[in-house]
Amino acid sequence: MTSRSSHGNCGFGSTLCMQGQGVVKGYAIGRAAIMSAAALEVVHYRIAEQDVEAECERLKKALATASGELQAMAVSLPDDAPRELGPLLTVHSLLLDDAALLQETCDLIINRHYNAEWALTTQGQLLAEQFSVMEDEYLRERGADIRQVIERVLRVLSGSTALLPSLEAGDAGDSLIVVARDISPADMLKLRGARFAAFLTDLGGPTSHTAIVARSMNVPAVVGLGHIRMLVRDGDILIADGFTGAVLVNPSELVLQEYRQRQAAYAGDRAELALLRDAPAVTLDGIQIKLEANIELPEEAVAALQAGADGIGLFRSEFLFMGRRDLPSEEEQYQAYASVVRTMAGRPVTIRTLDLGADKTLDGDVTVATNPALGLRAIRYCLANPELFATQLRALLRASLHGHVRILIPMISHMHEVRATKQAIEAACESLEASGVPFARNISLGAMVEIPAMAIAIEPFADALDFLSIGTNDLIQYTLAIDRGDSEVADLYDPMHPAVLRLIAHTINSAERAGIPVAVCGEIAGDSRVTRMLLGLGLTEFSMHPQQMLDVKKEVRLAHSNALRVKVASALNRAERIDLAALSN
Ligand code: PEP
Ligand code: MG
Repeated sequence: MTSRSSHGNCGFGSTLCMQGQGVVKGYAIGRAAIMSAAALEVVHYRIAEQDVEAECERLKKALATASGELQAMAVSLPDDAPRELGPLLTVHSLLLDDAALLQETCDLIINRHYNAEWALTTQGQLLAEQFSVMEDEYLRERGADIRQVIERVLRVLSGSTALLPSLEAGDAGDSLIVVARDISPADMLKLRGARFAAFLTDLGGPTSHTAIVARSMNVPAVVGLGHIRMLVRDGDILIADGFTGAVLVNPSELVLQEYRQRQAAYAGDRAELALLRDAPAVTLDGIQIKLEANIELPEEAVAALQAGADGIGLFRSEFLFMGRRDLPSEEEQYQAYASVVRTMAGRPVTIRTLDLGADKTLDGDVTVATNPALGLRAIRYCLANPELFATQLRALLRASLHGHVRILIPMISHMHEVRATKQAIEAACESLEASGVPFARNISLGAMVEIPAMAIAIEPFADALDFLSIGTNDLIQYTLAIDRGDSEVADLYDPMHPAVLRLIAHTINSAERAGIPVAVCGEIAGDSRVTRMLLGLGLTEFSMHPQQMLDVKKEVRLAHSNALRVKVASALNRAERIDLAALSN
C-alpha cells in the first residue's frame, strides 16, 4: 500500500506540518500525549539451552494473561462504550488463543534461543507481512490486529501497564491529543475514561479500528501519519485537522488563532445542526422526505433513533454472520432482529437478507470465485443454500411480530429469483405454523436495485414487489464496470455519470407509476452535496449512516423539490453531466 503520509510546512511558514488521512471530521488543539509502544523497546537476548522450557512457559503465561484481560474487558464493557468494542476485543482474544501462534513462537525460542519478546516480535512481523500483501484493503488492515495483540503481550512480558505517562504530568485543563503508533480497541477502552481532543496514529487507514472507534466516539482522528510518534514530544502543542488530515506541530500564535476560529465556527455549525433533530424533513415546496438509517449491528438502532431517523432503511444482516466460526442460529437472529424492531418502536425496519460474497465472506470460507462480484453472492448464495436462507427467513417472520419489518432482497436480476424468494418465504411460514411458533404474515417484500439489468427492465419487478431500494454502491460498480474496492480505478467510480442517474431516474419513475415506495440506500444518499440532485430525480426516501442525517436534512429544508425536478430532467434528457452548483437556489 502506498503511504500518503508526509511532512513539511504545509504553507504555514516554519510550522512543522504532517499529512495523514483525516478519518473523523473536526478540529482539535491540544498537547501531545505520546502513547507507549512496547514493540519499539523490545530487548533481544539469547536464552541458554537449559532455560528454553521456562522461557516458553513465560510466553505461554503472558499470552494467557493478555487473552484473559481482553475477554474480561469484552464481558464487562460499560454501557456507554462504543458498540464496536465488544466484538473487536473478542476477535483480539481469539487471535491470542490460536495454538499456532504459541507453537510457532515457541519454535523460535527452542530452535534459535530467542528470548520470548524477540521471538514474539519476529513471529508477529511474519504474520503482519502475510496480511500486508493481501489484495483486499480490509484484510490488509487486519495485520494491524496482529501488531496490536502482540504489543499487548509484550506489555505483559515487560510488566509495564502505563499507556500515557504524560497524562499525569499534563497541566490540568489542557486538552490532550493522543499520539500513537497505533491504538488497539483495548487501549481505546482504557483511554476513553479521560476526554481526549483527538487521536493521531502512524499507522491505519479509514477502516482501521482507531478510525472506527474514534468515529463512534465522535473524536477527530488522523491516521496513517507515518512517523508522528517519533517526531513529536510529550507536551508539544498540536493542531489536528480531521477534514484535511493535516497535523501542525508547535504552531505560531497566528496559526493557533486561525484554527481556534475554525474550531468555533465548526462547533457553531454542529450546534445549529443539532437543533434540526426534531425538525421535519420537508422541502420549501412542502414535499415530505423520509430519512432512514443504515445499520450493520443491532446496537446501532439506538444511534439511528437519536439522530431522528424515520426508520431503518437498510440493516445489513450479513454482519451478524461475519467474524465468527459458526452460523448464527434462528433464535440468535430472531433476538437480534427483534431488538432492532423494539428499539424502533413501530417505525419500519428494513432488514436485508444475507448479502455475502464479493468483499464479504464467512470466516473459513475458502472458495474463491473467478470473479466474486459477479459470482454466487447475495440472493444467489441464499437460494443455493436453502437451509441457511430458511433459518434467516423464519427469524425475520418471527421478529415481525414485534413491529414493522420489511424484507429486502439484495442483487436481484431475474424475476424467477423474486418468485423463488416468495416461495422460500411461504415455506418458512408453513414450517413455523407447523411447529406452532407465532409470527406475522403479510410481511412486505422489496428488492435492492443494484444490477443495471433490473433497473432497465424494472416494470415487472415494481409490479411484483412492495417496495424498492436503490443500492447505488453496486449499481455504479456494475454500470461503469468499476470494481468499487479497487483503488487503481477509484477515479472512474462516478456517481454523477449520466448513465447512472438515468437508471436511478427510471427506477424512481417506474416505482411511482406502480404506486410503491422507493429509497436510495447507497452511500450517495448520505452525501449532502448531492441531496438536491437526488431530490431533483424525484427521490423522497433516503437511507444513510445516522451521523449524516442532519446534514442531509438541512439541505432538504433549503431545497425546492419541483424546481429541482425540472432542472435535473432537462439535463438528463440530454445525457449531460449535472452541474451541482447550478442546483443551489
Ligand atoms: C449498495 O450496493 O449500494 C448497498 C447499499 O449495499 P452494500 O454497500 O452493502 O453492497
Ligand atoms: Mg450492494
